[in-house]
Amino acid sequence: MPATAVRRLVRRTILPLTAPIGSVRSVRPNRDVAVLTYDDGPQPGGTERVLAALAEVGATATFFILVGRARRHPGLLADVIAAGHEVALHGINHVRLTQFPSAEVRRRTMDGRKELEDLAGQQVRWFRPPYGAQYPTTWAAIRSAGMASVVWSDEVQDWQDQPIPVIAARAARVRRGSVLLMHDGYADASDGVDDGPAPTFDRGELSRRILGDLAERGLHASSLGNALAGGRAVRGAWFRS
Ligand SMILES: [Zn+2]
Repeated sequence: MPATAVRRLVRRTILPLTAPIGSVRSVRPNRDVAVLTYDDGPQPGGTERVLAALAEVGATATFFILVGRARRHPGLLADVIAAGHEVALHGINHVRLTQFPSAEVRRRTMDGRKELEDLAGQQVRWFRPPYGAQYPTTWAAIRSAGMASVVWSDEVQDWQDQPIPVIAARAARVRRGSVLLMHDGYADASDGVDDGPAPTFDRGELSRRILGDLAERGLHASSLGNALAGGRAVRGAWFRS
């Protein structure tokens, strides 16, 4: 068997077996931090406002980027990076991966990673499947593409158009080490999906409010990568269609 074929066999079969099992759901940090994650951007009108709110308190976050959007808004991706935030992959577009066979999931994940790394000029290691939708086979395909699946422990349901105080109140359960799902964009037809009209509230204002509430409870907001410096990831089984 040629060396390249052996390497491919190892990468596809052995490495996924030796990697940590499960998806990252929270962290065990060595300081009082909660992880903020923002999905579905970059989006004009959303991303800049979120960046401004984070900058006001010196917080970092992890942005799960849609590659098609990064292609259309490279300036916003550059702003995310310049502000010291972490760039992660949310997909080429926002379609559910559970509809695809493993080989297709793997191909899409590898292609998305390569293009995002080219656009961002840095390595990308985290992947969050759209809607958190993954089967065990999807998870394995993501892992065989060299990426770690990251889901979340807390959400504020900021895909609904509700008053900011109502949405922000759902962050009351966030604790040290929680991974909070938020959004700086809203996936639409340009991302291959139809989830109805986008909410109209100010995403910067929502972030500002949640950051303030966290600070009152002694919690600083951090990107996943920063929270894991000196801490460790808590993984668990996470499967949904
Ligand atoms: Zn999403």
